[in-house]
Order: sequence, then structure tokens, then C-alpha cells
Amino acid sequence: MAKRLEGKTIVITGASSGIGRSCAFEFARTAPKHLKLVLTARRVDRLKEIAAQIKEEVGDGVKVLPVALDVADPEQVRGFVGGLPEEFRSIDVLVNNAGLVKGVARAPEIAEEDINVMFQTNVTGLINMTQAVLPIFKARPDGGAGDIINIGSIAGREPYAGGSIYCATKAAVRAFTDALRQELIATRIRVMEIDPGQVETEFSVVRFYGDKSKADAVYAGCDPLTPDDIAEVVVFVAGRRQNVVVADTLIFPSHQA
Ligand code: NDP
Repeated sequence: MAKRLEGKTIVITGASSGIGRSCAFEFARTAPKHLKLVLTARRVDRLKEIAAQIKEEVGDGVKVLPVALDVADPEQVRGFVGGLPEEFRSIDVLVNNAGLVKGVARAPEIAEEDINVMFQTNVTGLINMTQAVLPIFKARPDGGAGDIINIGSIAGREPYAGGSIYCATKAAVRAFTDALRQELIATRIRVMEIDPGQVETEFSVVRFYGDKSKADAVYAGCDPLTPDDIAEVVVFVAGRRQNVVVADTLIFPSHQA
């Protein structure tokens, strides 16, 4: 697997915590000799810390570039690829991971601001990032090559009361991913989706607007997945032969079945 990943440039959105952060480490550990990682999120200080930790752990074989990027801002996304240093511009893998849930409320009570931030981040942001990298993928021979790995959610398949908007955003990710895969059929551009169930990250802290005690209560008495569990799957799908499309993966802790 390391050989197939070597030489690649991998962009991860939402790399400052949770699943995105774990993906950065997992890619670096799997292909530590010759890899370029572009780590993006709004909290760039965190990305710099992660870059330093990766360098300490695997050495100079992995070049890490932290980039401040708000995926919900179309102008920032439009300028993203052109703003990269030349050596990081030939992107091979995009992990569309940035995402959030805001609040737990019945549909009529959800604040407009929360609806907008969830759609702009989870859906429009993911679509805009995809549109930003596709020209690079398509410019490669034989119809193009590259990987788009979208992090959806079990919520996109099994909607629940109190989560209507978040579930709708993840159902939209699913529809977009499936349609795009069909549009790119017979190219070597793979469009893949990984749908996690419950994973313990900062996700619930964000959901409860920073209230850590409420977030902790979500995981009390359960045995959630770790972000590394998801990162291992992300790196696995990216590391298959280019003809192998692991299109759709649902992964959840056993208590959630
Ligand atoms: P975290 O809150 O730990 O990480 C979310 C990441 O997204 C952060 O790095 C955050 O960075 C980034 N992010 C949020 N908004 C933006 C934005 N506008 N622009 C750029 N980056 C942004 O949560 P997870 O790791 O759990 O979440 C990662 C993905 O996994 C999400 O898409 C989520 O929906 C999905 N998921 C999570 C599950 C779970 O149980 N945890 C279950 C199923 C799916 P920053 O704030 O620095 O910008």
C-alpha cells in the first residue's frame, strides 16, 4: 500500500481535529518516504502543531503544508488551488472531511444560522472543493486520475428526530457522490464515500456550541469508534490499485447496529 501512495499529494479538509487529523497521521505513517500532505481547516495554529508532530514522528519524507481554509467560503475555495506552492498543486487525493452539526432541535425550531452553516460547510463546501480539484484530475492522461473521498455519515442513510438538517446535508453528500461517480465512470477518477457511525471527536462539542459536559454525555456508557478507526479506512481505500473503487463504506461501533 505504501508504494501506491508514495509520491502522492493529498489534501484533507477539516484536518485540525478528529477524523481529519487522524487521516493526516495515518497517511504519513503508511507512506512515510515520499508524500505531500496539504492540511486545511480554519484553525491554522492547530494544523501547524500537527505538521510539527508528523515531522517529529516520521521525519522529512512527508512534506506537510498547513493551509487556512474555510470551505464554507466559496471565494477562499476558488483561490485554494492557485494559492498553493507549485510543488503541492498536482493534487492526487482529496479527502472532503470538513463538516459539523449545530444543535439538536426539531425542524421548526432550528435556527436559520445553523441551517445555513451546516449546508454551506457539509454540502456546498464539499461540492466547491470537488470542483476546485477536478480540473487537475481531468488534465491527466486517459480521461484523468485522482481520488475524491467524501466523509458522509450514517445520518445520511438513517435520519433521526432532532437531526433533520444534519441528516439532510449528509443525504445530499451521498446523492452528490453517487451522481459524480456515474459522471466519471470509465475514467481513473475514483469517487468514494465513507459513512461513519458514532466516533468520539470534537463533533459533539461543536454540536452543543462548546458545552463539553453535554458532549461527554453523548458518549457515556457507549464504546464509540475512534477517529483512527475511520482514518484507517480512508487510507485503505486510497491505497487500492487505481482500478479498485471502494465506492461506499458504512462503519459504526457494534452497539450502534
Ligand atoms: P471534529 O469537530 O473533530 O472535526 C471537524 C473538522 O471540520 C475540524 O477540523 C474543523 O476545523 C473542520 N471544519 C468545520 N467547519 C469548517 C469550515 N467551514 N471550513 C473548514 N474546516 C471546517 O469532528 P469529526 O472529526 O467527527 O468530523 C469530521 C467529519 O466526520 C464531518 O464531516 C462529520 O460530519 C463526519 N462524521 C462524524 C461523526 C462523529 O460521530 N464524530 C459521525 C459521522 C460523520 P476548524 O474548526 O479548524 O475549521
